[in-house]
Amino acid sequence: VSTWSTVPAGPPDPILGVTEAFKADKDPRKINLGVGAYRDDKGKPYVLNCVKKAEEILTTSNPDKEYLPIAGLPEFTKNAAKLAYGADSAPFASNSVAVVQSISGTGALRIGGAFLARFYPHSKTIYLPTPSWGNHTPIFRDSGLEVKNYRYFDKKTVGLDFTGLKEDLKNVPEKSIVLLHACAHNPTGVDPTPEQWKEISDIFKEKQLFPFFDMAYQGFASGDTTRDAFAVRYFVEQGHQIALSQSFAKNMGLYGERVGAFSLVTESPEEKARVESQLKIVIRPMYSNPPLHGARIANTILSDSALYGEWEKEVKGMADRIISMREKLYNMLSGDLKTPGEWSHIKSQIGMFSFTGLQPAQTKALAEKAHIYMTADGRISMAGLNGGNIEYFAESVNKAVR
Ligand code: PMP
Repeated sequence: VSTWSTVPAGPPDPILGVTEAFKADKDPRKINLGVGAYRDDKGKPYVLNCVKKAEEILTTSNPDKEYLPIAGLPEFTKNAAKLAYGADSAPFASNSVAVVQSISGTGALRIGGAFLARFYPHSKTIYLPTPSWGNHTPIFRDSGLEVKNYRYFDKKTVGLDFTGLKEDLKNVPEKSIVLLHACAHNPTGVDPTPEQWKEISDIFKEKQLFPFFDMAYQGFASGDTTRDAFAVRYFVEQGHQIALSQSFAKNMGLYGERVGAFSLVTESPEEKARVESQLKIVIRPMYSNPPLHGARIANTILSDSALYGEWEKEVKGMADRIISMREKLYNMLSGDLKTPGEWSHIKSQIGMFSFTGLQPAQTKALAEKAHIYMTADGRISMAGLNGGNIEYFAESVNKAVR
């Protein structure tokens, strides 16, 4: 008998499983709206020009392949924190942000979860919005935290359930850990307005909640990195000691390079040094030290003003293309096709995804009859739409809902 004969087969990943079904489909009209990776207007993966240029600069400098320190490339982590917090942020300017490089956003969340499980003195429970990115629950559970939820999305209005959110946050135990999507909430595409963020910050103060921001889409949501950092910077200005996960997967298109950062706002450079020493102790037995190449690329872009300028334009280009797809899709459904239902949320939602409101039976029909693949919750990656397929998509949706 094999040692592994009692290991049960696990379920396929709900998001990556969609890509597998897509790959197996031979129809030329097929569309993959499952995975959240940017595609250009020809439907092709896109390597940013600033990334290509940074790689040329790196090749010319003939760098070595030595190990990075446990906390990663120091210039990179400093520049990543500057991008998120802003150069004039008080904790950043006073050298009180503890920051380490991570294996993209996923790794940052995992380091953060493990650090909080070990050192956050008040609670071992993290509250996630309902719904949230599918990987959040297993990441935090495997980090050693208990996972609970707060209301976020209202299916009826296909918008924010702000009343439910406030009620739930007012009812969690004081000093609980609460995860917030900094911008471009995944999977809903629904973000609080600046005014609503201010109210949320007030509740955090009242209840002394601990905010853990997941910022996987800075710049990618609105096209402007400063604007997308509003919630993070506002909370820090208000004196909250935040935890922050950053990813450079989407905004620099560095998906497979796995570039990210985890940071914590501390009170002083002395406290920052203590916290960083413990973050290193969390990281060392997990993977010793992070990968080199992607951090070098990101740092080259962040530290060179010409490349930085080019990056800002390219991020805006990606965001604008997605926004234009939202407008086109909305116009097709509610205009010519007169598709039953209310579709304005497609235009108002933010970031890579749209929660269409399509029901599981409809998403199944779209896959089987139209070769269009999305997650069963009706989430579509807007980046999978382009000038060549959007009309076919709109017509197929129109048929599926009638
Ligand atoms: N958080 C959210 C909300 C995300 O959508 C993603 C990417 N799908 C991530 C974190 C992390 O992704 P990565 O590890 O590729 O940076």
